[in-house]
Amino acid sequence: MYKNKSKTVHNCTMLRVIGVSKKHNSVWRVYFHDYNDDDKICLFTKKINPLLVWFYKLKKQKLYNNICDVCGNEFKFYKKRFEKMPDECFECNPDQFEY
Ligand SMILES: [Zn+2]
Repeated sequence: MYKNKSKTVHNCTMLRVIGVSKKHNSVWRVYFHDYNDDDKICLFTKKINPLLVWFYKLKKQKLYNNICDVCGNEFKFYKKRFEKMPDECFECNPDQFEY
């Protein structure tokens, strides 16, 4: 019987990729936020396979500002390039932010 044996070549547990860069012609690195041992969100960096640079670039998210339609407060959020802009902040509409 056929079994799905597809392997994940890359670590997909990263909470939020915020940058991909190569320094001094050396190795590619990905910068990402994730939870540390104390369950706090921290910045991490990791060497990556150059063949997967495109993958991490697609996953990369940028920090944006917007004004909430409901409460009028400014809020910050991360989004990927092709995701739509949220109009309401985390408190007014928590459901729109899914990870
Ligand atoms: Zn709001």
